[in-house]
Amino acid sequence: MNESNDTLVGLRGVTKAYETPAGPFLALRGVDLTVGPGEFVAVIGKSGSGKSTLINAIAGIDRPTDGEVTVTGTRVDQLSEDQIARWRGDHLGVIFQFFQLLPTLTLLENVMLPMEFARRGSAAQRRARALALLERVEMADHADKLPSAVSGGQQQRVAIARALANDPVLIVADEPTGSLDARTADTIFQLFEELVDQGKTILMVTHDNDLAARASRVVLISDGEVVESHVRRALGDLSDAQLGEVSAHLEPVVLDAGAEVFAEGATADRFYIVVRGTVEIRRAGDLVAELGPGQHFGEIGLLTGEPRNATAVVATGTEASLVALGAADFRRLAAEGHLDQDAIARVMRERLSAHTLREVMPDPVVATVDALSEEGRHESFEPGATILRPGDPADRFYVVLDGMVEVMSASGDTVAYRYRAGRHFGTRGLAPDGRSVALLRASPASDGPTVIASVPGSVARDVVAGDGPSEAHLARLLTGAMRRPGSASL
Ligand code: ADP
Ligand code: MG
Repeated sequence: MNESNDTLVGLRGVTKAYETPAGPFLALRGVDLTVGPGEFVAVIGKSGSGKSTLINAIAGIDRPTDGEVTVTGTRVDQLSEDQIARWRGDHLGVIFQFFQLLPTLTLLENVMLPMEFARRGSAAQRRARALALLERVEMADHADKLPSAVSGGQQQRVAIARALANDPVLIVADEPTGSLDARTADTIFQLFEELVDQGKTILMVTHDNDLAARASRVVLISDGEVVESHVRRALGDLSDAQLGEVSAHLEPVVLDAGAEVFAEGATADRFYIVVRGTVEIRRAGDLVAELGPGQHFGEIGLLTGEPRNATAVVATGTEASLVALGAADFRRLAAEGHLDQDAIARVMRERLSAHTLREVMPDPVVATVDALSEEGRHESFEPGATILRPGDPADRFYVVLDGMVEVMSASGDTVAYRYRAGRHFGTRGLAPDGRSVALLRASPASDGPTVIASVPGSVARDVVAGDGPSEAHLARLLTGAMRRPGSASL
């Protein structure tokens, strides 16, 4: 296989089935994963989700049942046992949870061992390099001790020195901080960060999501699958940092066929993305949507604070693998900009336009997005152009998407008020007959055109009536509805 230079680790369709008395058990289900040079990848997931199986496939410790594993240009899954041992010694540093230092060798001898296997340099050179590496992990003072004479954190430092012995391009570590206390774990993690700064690529399994979030990328494994691509599909364009932040807060949920995810009327507490299987959305018993991998549900209640307006159940005949984000994390990530409100509005709109979930979302927010997209108008004005003259029909609610709108004084020669991008106007300040009382123009000082979106006043008044959203909220929804590429018919 021809991997590009940007690929250090490439997995394609990697499947691992373990034979068990109950039949084959799928520990990995067609994993695709690409890691580039210099990445610091944290692999997270529940116990038993397949993290070690994945690491072992990459390190050639175990062979996948199906699929391709390419590391540093070598098809690891096709090497013989002898070839694998040699290849690993030359290219890979491997670190495990329980250090695995040889108990009868000194720390220095443990670090020299991989160099001896690889027949690197003279004995004196190997010793010098091993000492330098022990220095590097602040263990040189203990070089001649046996592993049992030092603490767990110290043993792990030595294991890291050993992993670096042959200067590998890639370091894989399976829960390297798993048996260490939090402070020691942190110092080990810092050591990894320094190695990445110095150009190493690291793939590290960890159960500590806070540590994981500090890596340059977080890969969440759920029930034998990498959820990354599904999260991207569900949430739109996220940066690696955003994706990592979201992934570190996702909780895998695996449910049997027919199981209920949540019931109509229940408190909305989580947002869900489908990874595998099918989830049915039912309202008053009627099937109104079927959601598959990469699709999401449950955000409406979190955004509105209302109880669930539909029941979500796993389709019969299939087990489903989902990832869930708790309400507090969902709102925090949204507030910090990790979840793009526009993206969420877009997905809601996509669903509505697909007529799938229309019936399950009668709440004002979705009705609003729908009405806004259908009734909305999009207009663009060059700098200085007149938008409205006094007396013009203007019973509309406006949002400035780009540029700046200036409201001129009655005399028409000074600016009384300015509306920047994001601000809204209209529905108030209109004459009773729905006509503009002032001259509005696109600011002559703007760099480009002033773009405004608007909906008829009747639509806006319906939306904000009663318990509907505020005008500011309406303005945000209108912005989201009108910013969407291809938002049609407008
Ligand atoms: P993790 O590292 O995420 O905790 P593992 O990769 O070790 O998970 O295991 C994934 C799943 O495969 C688990 O359900 C585990 O019980 C199962 N498994 C692992 N090794 C074997 C094996 N040799 N035989 C049968 N099942 C196994
Ligand atoms: Mg494991």
